[in-house]
Amino acid sequence: MLYIGCHLSYSKGYEAMGKQALEIDANTFAFFTRNPRGGAAKAIDPEDAAKLRGILTENSFGKLVAHAPYTMNACAADPKIRTFAREAMADDLKRMEAVPGNYYNFHPGSHVKQGPEIGIQLISEQLNEVLREEQSTIVLLETMAGKGSEMGRSFEELRAIIDRTDLSSKLGVCLDTCHIWDGGYDIVGDLDGVLEDFDRIIGLDRLKAVHLNDSMNPLGAHKDRHAKIGEGHIGADALIRVINHPLLKKLPFILETPNDIDGYAREIKFLRENFND
Ligand code: FE
Ligand code: FE
Ligand code: ZN
Repeated sequence: MLYIGCHLSYSKGYEAMGKQALEIDANTFAFFTRNPRGGAAKAIDPEDAAKLRGILTENSFGKLVAHAPYTMNACAADPKIRTFAREAMADDLKRMEAVPGNYYNFHPGSHVKQGPEIGIQLISEQLNEVLREEQSTIVLLETMAGKGSEMGRSFEELRAIIDRTDLSSKLGVCLDTCHIWDGGYDIVGDLDGVLEDFDRIIGLDRLKAVHLNDSMNPLGAHKDRHAKIGEGHIGADALIRVINHPLLKKLPFILETPNDIDGYAREIKFLRENFND
């Protein structure tokens, strides 16, 4: 069973996302927990969340991969921005309990001239304040392209954050194919080698989800511009090898390609046709 889906809009609520997923033959999806550019989160209607839970169980969905707002920067130099990041994540993790047992993915942050060492320290400090033993959500650090001073540009940086987080049993990693390609990991020429590196440095047991994207830029470009499947430098063949890789094929795959809903439906169909159960 291939678990595949895309980003869906939360604007019409939880049940609406579940219904839309079914319409496009998705059996997982991503959504922003609040406006990705920041601001307050809409209150959750418990009945609406219960309807989504029903859809997920009845249709054997894989884990959902919620996405934290882009404006969340746990390692900002400005303490006000760090406070927003901490409060938003704590609030999001409470809200995630409306659909328990899923994933919550976030961009580790940008250290903005403070250096990666301070970045690692500040991100793990935030996680140490926010993670709770009783939460049912696993928080995923996303692999980043290394644009500017982005943290998470290497497996080593993610490992260092995990090492300094006390409740690391609540942590995992979301591997973004566009980002690691742009970060210099050759998933086209040597997918096995990249996964061996991941296993040696982080451990494959931490790998919980994949953002499946093509890239507009060549290997190591550190740019982060997503392309449609088969229209970028990674290419359809390499992405088909990703979804079929024995170490990856059971994970939830989330498309973040530049598409409208019909484009996502077409990519899901294409990937299902090229998946070997
Ligand atoms: Fe992301
Ligand atoms: Fe991503
Ligand atoms: Zn990206």
